[in-house]
Amino acid sequence: MLTLIRDANIVTQNAERQIIRGDLMVRDGTIEQVGGTVRGSADVEIDAAGDIVIPGLINTHTHVSMAILKSIADDLPFPQFLNKVFAVDAKRTERDIRAGAAQGCVEMIRSGTTTFLDLYYSEDIIAKAVDQAGIRGILGWAVLDQQFTTQSGDPLENCKRFHQQFKGRERIYPAVGLQGVYVCSTETFLGARDYALENDLLLTFHLSETRKEVSDCKRKEGKRPGDYLSSIGFLNDHCVAAHAAWLTINEVRALAAAGTKVSTCPCSNMKLATGGVAPLPEMFQNGVTVSVGTDGSTTNNSLDLFGEMKTLSLLQKANRWDPTVLPAQKVLDLATIEAARAVRMDHLIGSIEVGKRADLVILNGKAANLRPARADTIVSNLIYSSCGGNVKTVLCDGRAVMLDGVVTTMDEEKVLLDAEDAANSLLG
Ligand SMILES: [Zn+2]
Repeated sequence: MLTLIRDANIVTQNAERQIIRGDLMVRDGTIEQVGGTVRGSADVEIDAAGDIVIPGLINTHTHVSMAILKSIADDLPFPQFLNKVFAVDAKRTERDIRAGAAQGCVEMIRSGTTTFLDLYYSEDIIAKAVDQAGIRGILGWAVLDQQFTTQSGDPLENCKRFHQQFKGRERIYPAVGLQGVYVCSTETFLGARDYALENDLLLTFHLSETRKEVSDCKRKEGKRPGDYLSSIGFLNDHCVAAHAAWLTINEVRALAAAGTKVSTCPCSNMKLATGGVAPLPEMFQNGVTVSVGTDGSTTNNSLDLFGEMKTLSLLQKANRWDPTVLPAQKVLDLATIEAARAVRMDHLIGSIEVGKRADLVILNGKAANLRPARADTIVSNLIYSSCGGNVKTVLCDGRAVMLDGVVTTMDEEKVLLDAEDAANSLLG
């Protein structure tokens, strides 16, 4: 099947970070030509004159099925927030999880996210929603010590079963998740690591989100979380550590040495007022691959990476009193090519280049908030002026999952009503 996107401003995110005006040709899901004019017709032709095409965005930390729990625990101190969310979460049924995952997928498609890294239990249910949505889900089954879990059975065994059941499916990538040092023993960490490395799976976990997590770990293990995970040999190049907000330079160096990647979650950290700011400049200096995550909908409460990118840039600038610390181009990198690197898929996605899979997002270049439209300000406009609402069309793996504002893979109205029903029955 041949798809042609005509006359677009293509923000390639290739090595030269070129922005090319012209046509984009996709054959059977693979990008075949970037720029120039393609003669002849195609099976699908999209007129993108004046519009902006970017690589599909990649959200490297979320809990997608919590989308129906948004706004239930806002403006609370952290312990009360946790109590409220855990109480509701413990009551969730399969139906709630399915409804939440579908709602979250719609939100992500509408705001230009084509790949996400999830951390939750019941990823088998979430996988079905992702499959229907037509986007890519890297689904990390949450592993933790049995004494702390609401899962039936051993979480690591559940994770293995999920992997065995779903491996090899298109766009579904089973992964291993770990809740964090506060509910995972050394044995749990190492068991999860062994299984992930033996099977070449991504390994994702919460790291140093709060100051309490750090002080509790120091008391229990005699070390800060990053130092502790390094000392037990857990850290490796399949790891994506979410938050990484309370790190010392020593811990940053340990992540760098192990090849561990980071997903920074600025909105979640700021909304919960957990105080730490991920030390991105030091991570860059030491060669840590950094990407961006929204975290779940109870702590954000949005899955829109455009909002996340702007917030990330502002937080880092404000925190360092330095407007040069995270420029617009670099922020876009963190949500595209660097994120693809973080999830070990940069050979497939993360930029618009010949030979890569066609995960593409078309934004309405005529929208008032994206004008004046000038080639040299497109990237700044994307980071500081745009929002998910500017997204018109989304392709994942060459297939249009949203076309001219209409989600094509799911009955959006039904998904939103189901989510509302689930929220109502769960929350009363
Ligand atoms: Zn999280």
